[in-house]
Amino acid sequence: MKFTELNLAEDIIAAVEKAGFVKPSPIQEMTIPLALEGKDVIGQAQTGTGKTAAFGLPTLNKIDVANNTIQALVIAPTRELAVQSQEELFRFGREKGVKVRSVYGGSSIERQIKALRSGAHIVVGTPGRLLDLIKRKALKLNHIETLILDEADEMLNMGFLEDIEAIISRVPEERQTLLFSATMPDPIKRIGVKFMKEPEHVKIAAKELTTELVDQYYIRVKENEKFDTMTRLMDVDQPELSIVFGRTKRRVDELTRGLKLRGYRAEGIHGDLDQGKRLRVLRDFKNDNLDILVATDVAARGLDISGVTHVYNYDIPQDPESYVHRIGRTGRAGKHGQSITFVSPNEMGYLSIIENLTKKRMKGLKPATAQEAFQAKKKVALKKIEADFADEKIRANFDKFKGDAVKLAAEFSPEELALYILTLTVQDPDTLPEVEIAREKPLPFKPSGGGFGGKGKGGRGRNDRNRRDGDRRGVYRGDRNHDDRRRDFKRKSNKNRKDFEQKDNKRPHRTSSEKKNGFVIRNKGDR
Ligand code: ADP
Ligand code: MG
Repeated sequence: MKFTELNLAEDIIAAVEKAGFVKPSPIQEMTIPLALEGKDVIGQAQTGTGKTAAFGLPTLNKIDVANNTIQALVIAPTRELAVQSQEELFRFGREKGVKVRSVYGGSSIERQIKALRSGAHIVVGTPGRLLDLIKRKALKLNHIETLILDEADEMLNMGFLEDIEAIISRVPEERQTLLFSATMPDPIKRIGVKFMKEPEHVKIAAKELTTELVDQYYIRVKENEKFDTMTRLMDVDQPELSIVFGRTKRRVDELTRGLKLRGYRAEGIHGDLDQGKRLRVLRDFKNDNLDILVATDVAARGLDISGVTHVYNYDIPQDPESYVHRIGRTGRAGKHGQSITFVSPNEMGYLSIIENLTKKRMKGLKPATAQEAFQAKKKVALKKIEADFADEKIRANFDKFKGDAVKLAAEFSPEELALYILTLTVQDPDTLPEVEIAREKPLPFKPSGGGFGGKGKGGRGRNDRNRRDGDRRGVYRGDRNHDDRRRDFKRKSNKNRKDFEQKDNKRPHRTSSEKKNGFVIRNKGDR
């Protein structure tokens, strides 16, 4: 199907084509016609499947730009997602002249009120700020014809259920309501029943929770060795663009500081940073001014960032769904990705809980040694020197140092000069700045059956999220990536051993060579 077959107005189609969209995604194909008919629609599809345009295009189609009133309201879970949706809606409505504003907490409300006063056809906002604006009578709801709940499960997770209900009850009853979500826990279904009129439920079955495009690894490592293990791995892997996930805000700050100290181009985002800073960091990351983004789950969720090659789970996530979200940041748009999860010895049980959900086994990875990391860094430096010498622009600068260079050349041998360049370029393992990462309490030792040991955020529908529909379960495929640097190795988990052995029986056959070798050591000779 093409976008032109969707009955959208010319100016909307033009904008969609300009954005480079060739054909509607399944959720778009199924929901846009219903929404255009004026029906209430519940759209369920995985993250990254184009839900924004699914509700955005029919909504934009309906807006009467001659009418200077707010005609559509989008409720979104976080500031980032609100901004992201606003940008996407603006992009598609620009041709038509649709004004889209976003409002969210943590940013001047006066400025947002002013922006609303200057005119808005569509408002995208987070629940708390929307309520504030409604109470201040700065946000008029009486002309709203379309109400959209975006990423509804996420809003539920963040405890916004009451706020959402409060907002909905203030929107005129004569309206169209669209609800989009990746999962459909019961409280969200109830919103559908309570606030929507005979909604059409469209569900796009997710074939797999995690894509085949992401190679998933884990490294068993002690808490106090995690940081060095991670940076060594980074030196060896040389990721183009990576995200490091930390469990807490403090963790994100410390990791960011540590990575910078060791010379990586890294920045962190989490909920305590002001909006401006967060957007700046994201922009830098998207524009290649940063190589590493350090983030908490909440800060990174739903963000549309392309080109991420590596996801490092510095801390194993508290719940398995977060893991799916995290590694979903890579392996997008047909490109390959890698995820590496660092697991402390007594957190090994969590690994199997995650694997139970994803139906995919992570491969064990041997940590790289300091020496390997050093070798890898040297290789990169040598390549860079070659490339720089071939670069006209850089060579053009050489002239400035001509006299000094002649002097140096008279004084030192070429080898000595080369040695000096290399010591300047490559940080050697002996002088690497020490980085202390404060100890986080590991997750409770023995996770109970289906959930996560009673810890974490109770009462927020977590259990609902863990209960999954049959069709969302991917089928485990036995095929393996035969990369000999990286292979399964036996898990040595003392007390949990029995669990693993039992699980292993259910797992697909290993080839006899894998059984024999156990694992292939990537750093021969060192251990
Ligand atoms: P979701 O809300 O389902 O997580 P988004 O709406 O954020 O997904 O879309 C994810 C990305 O896919 C965005 O960059 C969006 O611009 C892009 N996208 C959406 N629909 C299409 C399409 N039909 N063709 C190509 N890209 C699309
Ligand atoms: Mg979305």
